[in-house]
This record gives sequence, structure tokens and C-alpha cells, in this order.
Amino acid sequence: MSDFAGLVAIVTGGASGIGLATANLLNSRGARVAALDLKPEGLPDGILGVQVDVTDDVQVKAAVEAVVERFGRLDVVVNNAGIGAVGDVTANGDDEWLRVLDVNVVGMVRVARHAIPHLRRSPAASIVNTCSIVAWAGVEQRALYSTSKGAVYALTLAMAADHVREGIRVNCVAPGSADTPWIGRSLERAADPAAARAVLDAFQPTGRLVTADEVAGAIAYLASPLSSASVGTVLAVDNGMHGLRLRPR
Ligand code: NAD
Repeated sequence: MSDFAGLVAIVTGGASGIGLATANLLNSRGARVAALDLKPEGLPDGILGVQVDVTDDVQVKAAVEAVVERFGRLDVVVNNAGIGAVGDVTANGDDEWLRVLDVNVVGMVRVARHAIPHLRRSPAASIVNTCSIVAWAGVEQRALYSTSKGAVYALTLAMAADHVREGIRVNCVAPGSADTPWIGRSLERAADPAAARAVLDAFQPTGRLVTADEVAGAIAYLASPLSSASVGTVLAVDNGMHGLRLRPR
């Protein structure tokens, strides 16, 4: 694992799940980390919480400027804040479509827009977007969410092309089902949460969900010079879900 000593990182959605695990990992490896989140509560010592809604461009700009003002530089951006949506295309109206795309896609654009002028000055500039395997695998009842993550994948490639010659690498991770409060909330809605959890685990090729720390490890790798030749790539962290077809046991 690379050393992030002296570097400064922003992690959006950094107060929970994958974002929190990433903020902790980068911080433990020496980075000064700001967690930009709707609810930057309960953060461990050493992580700066900044309250921001990524759908508000004024707030995002102010938050990025505040981090640079505080720490003097910006090297790594983990664009991770996201929300879910359930249903086929008949399930959600325009308001819901626009809300989810606003958070999951345009939110990443806003953070990048305000971060890139600072990243241009970093010798180790890296942006990692949190995508999902639903970007390219058809998953039932996820029309809106999958569309948002498909856009994140395309956005990653476009940003990678636009900024590689400026020394800014852009990549994304694609988690499968990761054990975070997000999954906890969806299990709570099931008639029998324990049974639903067992089904989810059994569906995994490894028999267990991905952990938030495993996704954080992949993000840290893409954020670090260890992945210096990776540009516009997607790293699946999904127990093999995107590509394996196992026979039923
Ligand atoms: P989570 O709900 O535990 O954390 C998401 C965080 O984002 C929360 O702290 C929340 O407050 C923050 N957030 C939400 N909307 C925001 C907004 N408008 N502005 C600022 N912050 C906001 O979820 P997680 O499972 O850690 O998910 C993190 C990312 O990983 C998301 O982009 C999600 O789509 C992606 N992902 C998750 C899974 C999974 O199975 N958990 C799988 C694939 C991809």
C-alpha cells in the first residue's frame, strides 16, 4: 500500500460505508482527509467533516475551497456520495429520475469542476469515482440507479481523456453488494431481514458480501501511484459477480 504522507484527499459521502472506510484508510496512510457529506457526524479524530450537499454547486465550491484553504493543497478526490433507487422504468417519475441523477452523476461533476484547478498543481493527482457493476450488468428493478452508474462509468472515461495530459488520472471502482449501512437499510425493508441477508450472502460467489474496507482498498490503490499507469479504468470489487457464472450447488 502506498504512502499518502503529505497529500490531501477529499472523500464525498465520507461519513458512512465505503466513503468512511476510504477516509479512514487514506488517513491511516498519512493523508489529511476531508469527508464531504450531508451528515458529517461521528467521524473519527483526524478526519475533517464538511457539511455539503453535492447537488448544490455553491456549497460544493465553498467546501472544496475550504479544504484547500485549511490544508494548502488537494491531491486526491474520491467521488463517492450516492443514493439508490428501486424499480423498473414505470416505477419512478421525472422528479425521482432527476434527483438521483443530480446526486449520483452531476454531484460528481460539481466536485470535479471545483477540484480540478487545484489538482492541476498536484504531482500525484487522482480522482476515483464510485461506480457499480450495475453500470454494465442488467440487474432487475434497478433501472434508474443502473442508469446513473452507467453515466458514472462514461463520465470516468471522458474525464480521464480530458485530464490525463494535465497529470490528473481518473478511474473508478465498481463494487458489487458491499456490506454498508446502505445494504442494512434495504434489508430492514425485507419481511425477514435475516433470511434476506442469507440469500444475499449465498448469491455471492464467495458466499459473503464485499466489505467496505475491501472497496476502500481498491479506491486507495487507484488513488495512489501504485496504479500510475491506470487511466480511465474500472476496477470491480464484487467477489467476481460481474463475470462469473457458477453452477448452482
Ligand atoms: P452509504 O449510504 O453508507 O453512504 C453514502 C453517504 O453518502 C452517506 O454518508 C450520505 O450522507 C452521503 N450522501 C448521500 N447523498 C449526499 C449528498 N447529496 N451530498 C453529500 N453526501 C451525500 O452508502 P455506501 O454503500 O457506502 O455507498 C457509497 C457509494 O458506493 C455510492 O455511490 C453507491 O452508489 C456505491 N455503491 C454501493 C454499493 C453497496 O452495495 N453498498 C454497491 C455499488 C456501489
